[in-house]
Order: sequence, then C-alpha cells, then structure tokens
Amino acid sequence: MKQCNRTEAPRIVAVGKWKPAELLKEAYDAGHRDFGENYVQEVAEKAPQMPKDVNWHFIGHLQSNKVKSLLEDVPNLACLETVDSEKLANKLSTQVESLGRDPLSVYVQVNTSGEETKFGVEPDKALDLARHIHEECKGLRFAGLMTIGMPDYTSKPENFECLTRCREEVCGALGLNTSDIELSMGMSGDYESAVKMGSTNIRVGSTIFGARDYENKR
Ligand SMILES: *Cc1c(COP(=O)(O)O)cnc(C)c1O
Repeated sequence: MKQCNRTEAPRIVAVGKWKPAELLKEAYDAGHRDFGENYVQEVAEKAPQMPKDVNWHFIGHLQSNKVKSLLEDVPNLACLETVDSEKLANKLSTQVESLGRDPLSVYVQVNTSGEETKFGVEPDKALDLARHIHEECKGLRFAGLMTIGMPDYTSKPENFECLTRCREEVCGALGLNTSDIELSMGMSGDYESAVKMGSTNIRVGSTIFGARDYENKR
C-alpha cells in the first residue's frame, strides 16, 4: 500500500458494507483500488469476486477468533484499521508470521468521543498500544491512528483534534515522523472538515455507493 502523507490528497477508502460486489466492481473499473469492509464474512465473500490488486481495508470490530479467517480469506488485505487491544495485536502478529505474509499495516483505533459503546482505546492509552505494536509485534507495522468519532457516525472537530494530538504524542515518544503515520478520520458526513484537519485516509460509504438499506444488515 502506498504511503499517504500530507503533501498528497488523502486516500479515499470506498466503504462497501451491505453493498453487492457488482457495485464495487463499477468503482474498480473507474480506477478505484482502495476498498473498506466491516465484516469478516462479507469481505471474505467479496475479495475473491474482485481483482487481486484491490487494497482492502478492514474497518470493523475484529474478534480474535476471526483473525485467522480474515487473513486467510483476504490475502490482499492492505490494512487493518481497528486494532484496539494488545491481545488482538498479538494474535494478528502471530498469525501473519505463521502464514509467512509480509508485515500487515495496522492502525490503532482511538475512542475520541468517550462513548462507552464505541470500540477503540482511550486517547491516553493510544501510546501504550502503539508502542506495543511497534516494538513487540514483528508481524505488524504500526502505520496510523483511526477514529470513528461520534456514535451517529459523524465527528466533531474535537474528535479530529484529539486524534491529531494522539499522533503527536505517539510519534514524539516512539521517534517516528508524523508524516509516516496516517490519520484515518472522516466519513460521508464529515470528511470535508476531516481533510481540512489533516486526515490522510477518509472512509466514505454512502456518498459513493448510496444510502445503506438497513434491512440488509447482517
Ligand atoms: C460504515 C462506515 C464508514 C462509512 O460511513 P458512511 O457514512 O457511509 O460514509 C466509515 N467508517 C466506518 C468505521 C464505518 O463503519
């Protein structure tokens, strides 16, 4: 996956959850390569239907017991954006190594809204998890931070500022360049302000593929 930094336009991850592979294929044929999915079963079904040069981003909550099938079923997984525990990081790293894959790029998911129902680590725990991945997980590459923002899938400027501050803290402590560490923030409702605030990776679903039909929810 090509590194994205502030001097370039942010990467647009086209989020296809609950949308058929045919629709994703249209975006692919128009030249798009970065696609995001939330569910292991869904991406495992879609990946074989799409060309091999797709960069899949996993953006849903991942349970440890699904790690193996995600990595096996999606050999072209480019990035896992939702690491939120050492346990998950360890499991991923071990599995990547045992499959003989190249190190997998991962982002640490940060809960910037303080909502108890949201996954992700608290902002003051982001450094610990990033350090663990960077220093202990040979199968992983710590590549960025991700946030969803508010429970209604919008973000406030405070959420974006919080993630930006986390990146400064993490990069300062681990001796990394901020331009090498991505900020995954912004969705259909808020990507414009996210981009203004330095997002390098926006995750856009309904604006690209149309509103999701909640009847089709898995
Ligand atoms: C569904 C989803 C998106 C895309 O949401 P839209 O509002 O349709 O753009 C982005 N990120 C995550 C984590 C999602 O679950």
